[in-house]
Amino acid sequence: MACYLSGYKGRFAPSPTGPLHAGSLVAALASWLDARAHGGRWLVRIEDVDMPRCVAGADETILAQLAACSLLPDEPPLYQSRRGALYQNALDQLIAQGLAYPCGCSRQDIARALAQRGQPQQRHGELVYPGSCRGGLNGKPARAWRLQTDKYQSNSALAQSGRAQAAIKFIANELLWQDRRLGRQTQNVSRDVGDFVLKRADGLWAYQLAMVVDDAAQGITDIVRGEDLADNTARQILLQRALGLPTPRYLHTPLVLGADGEKLSKQNGARALDTRDPLALLEQAGQTLELPGQISARTPAEWLQQAVPLWANRYQT
Ligand code: GLU
Repeated sequence: MACYLSGYKGRFAPSPTGPLHAGSLVAALASWLDARAHGGRWLVRIEDVDMPRCVAGADETILAQLAACSLLPDEPPLYQSRRGALYQNALDQLIAQGLAYPCGCSRQDIARALAQRGQPQQRHGELVYPGSCRGGLNGKPARAWRLQTDKYQSNSALAQSGRAQAAIKFIANELLWQDRRLGRQTQNVSRDVGDFVLKRADGLWAYQLAMVVDDAAQGITDIVRGEDLADNTARQILLQRALGLPTPRYLHTPLVLGADGEKLSKQNGARALDTRDPLALLEQAGQTLELPGQISARTPAEWLQQAVPLWANRYQT
């Protein structure tokens, strides 16, 4: 039986919108290697809160693809679609603290408010919410719930615990955090993203809230995931602080790019992993992670065993 002494807990958190492709395997492998290199546990969480985007059976396909590569979680996978009560508790806590408020704005309302203020409309295709409903709904029906992002941007505010704590600072409303691979990162959430959505107008839970609640509930100490998600980290740290939850360490991995130079996705040609040759898949993912050294293995389990010492100490904690 494996012996886990370190207290390290990592996870892979796929959204079941389709089978794994080469890019998602890189994140799965990196999170598994980091957990094992730290003598820690590795969990899989199925992030199926965005129901309209989920594909029936994709969760089973993903778990089977991981298993073909010998990436086996240490606990049964957790499904976010069954955890609405926890997310509601978190939202209720934020409302009670005056940190979350209802918003009655449509996309058009937001675009109009931004135009009136002469503010930039979009960032990564998202409208930067200008806080129109902070002071009340002005007779509009509530559509979504948002986090008030300018209330606790100080070093002394709320909970400060968790593995990454020492590296997190606020300087003049800029949140500074340390990524184990990307180094120092900074974002002013209030200015650059705005008060972001916690519960959507269609009643679905937003990724940011569900993720933060679950990482804490599962005791995740280290988040290892694709670099495309790095931009969400500052929002997640704000939410952790607002909810009094610890902040894990973060490591964002290199992305596999599609033919158009963008992150590999279904839109630019990502194909489902062909698990008939799992060794080839692991080798390819290992190359993206720039694992140093040679691996010569006959089975995926053997390959993984040899990869752990190659990964260890690559990214200091
Ligand atoms: N479910 C997210 C995705 O598949 C990943 C979330 C995370 O790792 O924080 O993009």
